[in-house]
Amino acid sequence: LKRAKRTRQAEIYTPEELDKARRRFTLETELRKAIELDRLELYFQPLIDMSNGFVTGFEALARWKDPDYGMISPVEFIPVAEECGLILPLGRWALDRACQVLNEWDAKAGEVLPLKVSVNVSAAQFARDDIPSMVANILRANKTKPERLCLELTESVVVSDPARAAKVMSALRALNVSLAMDDFGTGYSNLAYLQQLPIDVLKIDRSFISDMLKERDKVAIVRAILSLASALGMETTAEGIETLEISQTLAALGCSFGQGYFYSPPVPADEAYAYMITRMG
Ligand code: C2E
Ligand code: MG
Ligand code: MG
Ligand code: MG
Repeated sequence: LKRAKRTRQAEIYTPEELDKARRRFTLETELRKAIELDRLELYFQPLIDMSNGFVTGFEALARWKDPDYGMISPVEFIPVAEECGLILPLGRWALDRACQVLNEWDAKAGEVLPLKVSVNVSAAQFARDDIPSMVANILRANKTKPERLCLELTESVVVSDPARAAKVMSALRALNVSLAMDDFGTGYSNLAYLQQLPIDVLKIDRSFISDMLKERDKVAIVRAILSLASALGMETTAEGIETLEISQTLAALGCSFGQGYFYSPPVPADEAYAYMITRMG
């Protein structure tokens, strides 16, 4: 029986596919363990006000360092978490941890810092009808003012069911958290929906930003997104700013906020605190 099974498998999978399937399975098992044992870490990347260069907030980004496999990128483990349902506990953890860190920073500074933290919310989390109450509960448990939280959603949450997306986004917005549309420009959302959604910030995808000064078309796209956002009364964040020249160009074009290695990569909470404390208005 064992042999028959193996033969059948061999017909279905190429060796590369088998390797991939094995790694996928290992990742799932190890990720489940990492979440249970509280082994994930939340890093923070500063968001800069382009009009004055000050830190206005941070994006929270999950990091996983496995004792055996080393650093595993969220580009690899977030899709696995989404497929196997682990994104729900992971997403709750990220929100909770972000609120905790805000509290730790306030305590260290001896004041309520004028900072916002942005947390990524995946489509699988957004699909849950209890997402607004989940967010409200975590805010309440940490005594975090909702004004200090921004949720980053992707266009994929709108595509499948725009009417539901509008309803859920309004429910979230009613909590007084703000909403950002992440990786804007890479999805397939109908622009007509954009004006019906309560979005505060468009985050221009890094693929348009990182090498924008080398390609005229990209500058044109960035300009178009900036004027679209302005017409709809939304703010803008450019992600993937890697050089002084790009930061200056975006500031001159009127982009509200900037994020990228030019300012700082994502770093652990205490490093983020040290970075921020010397760069606030
Ligand atoms: P994202 O939300 O678009 O986050 C921005 C990504 O761009 C981060 O990658 C960040 O490290 C990277 N980045 C920022 N500035 C630069 C730059 O100047 N140059 C380059 N080359 N990259 C830059 P990261 O941390 O690897 O995360 C990848 C994606 O994984 C995120 O993209 C997000 O979609 C997802 N992710 C990470 N943490 C979470 C989480 O807690 N929950 C969920 N649902 N998704 C998460
Ligand atoms: Mg994001
Ligand atoms: Mg993004
Ligand atoms: Mg991105």
